[in-house]
Amino acid sequence: MSAQEKPDPLRDVAARYAVAITPAMEALIAHEHDPIALQFRPDARELAVLPDELIDPIGDGAHEAVTGVVHRYPDRALLKLLHVCPVYCRFCFRREMVGPGGDGALTSTELDAAIAYIEAHPDIWEVIFTGGDPFLVSARRARDVTERLAAIPHVKVLRWHTRVPCVDPLRVTPDLVAAIKHEDVATYVVLHANHPRELTREAKAAIARLVDAGVPMLSQSVLLKGVNDDADTLEALMRGFVEARVKPYYLHHLDRAPGTSRFRCSIEHGQELMQTLHERASGLAQPAYVLDIPGGHGKAPLASPSAEKTEAGWKVRDRNGSWRDYDEDGR
Ligand code: SF4
Repeated sequence: MSAQEKPDPLRDVAARYAVAITPAMEALIAHEHDPIALQFRPDARELAVLPDELIDPIGDGAHEAVTGVVHRYPDRALLKLLHVCPVYCRFCFRREMVGPGGDGALTSTELDAAIAYIEAHPDIWEVIFTGGDPFLVSARRARDVTERLAAIPHVKVLRWHTRVPCVDPLRVTPDLVAAIKHEDVATYVVLHANHPRELTREAKAAIARLVDAGVPMLSQSVLLKGVNDDADTLEALMRGFVEARVKPYYLHHLDRAPGTSRFRCSIEHGQELMQTLHERASGLAQPAYVLDIPGGHGKAPLASPSAEKTEAGWKVRDRNGSWRDYDEDGR
């Protein structure tokens, strides 16, 4: 900064982390504390990095087998086709890796090496496209990678993780939908959304283009203070997914990425919200509440246990939170 320049924290945030919001999301913002604004608009508090925040909070780096492939569990691998997104979430767990600078996408040599790695590992049953947002690839590239992976006999499932159906719904074109399907493999799409207002009419139409074409959809959300950490909002979000034919799959406890502490909720609060959701809504509307253990150790379920073995037999918790005896042998 030169002597004449005034301090500008937002400029400093933008210099460190990528910033972008789509017109569809901008149109939803009513005021500066709007949950949509909190997710995408930069904030000076991002410059405060706490000692327990990690550049790679879920430990992708420890499991990167070749460029673009993270092989953490034997039966599945992440394939990061590109590092750009249509929006940049202020709580992103890969915020140090995504953005318009640097390498945007895998080169064709890197993609060849990534596919060769998957081909050489017969335990890999499922390939998960992540990034960045993989729905930003062209339909031509999506078709190419789908066909190449579908040709590998042990790859049975392709899973695309994306925010696009909500944040830029017109990108879900019939061409893209056709490109990700193949008769030799099952294709799933996992939609990332955190607030019920993200499920606009246009978003629901984009979801319908996928589901009507036979692509099953699941959801993932992040529990975020000020965005969805109250029972009514979380319930509306999960009901909204189900109504749009998206099965709630994961509610993630926030990963401790740098400069994200303003979004933190306690695990206890998350468990209370899950219990309320359990009391209020059908089983269809229940995601699994999970934590990615820092250091790359995988996921831990966080829901409080509903069954306990005692000397007298089992105690099980009903939907209102009361504990009841259960005699396993039916005596
Ligand atoms: S869309 Fe996903 S990868 Fe991209 S900024 Fe948001 S959380 Fe990060």
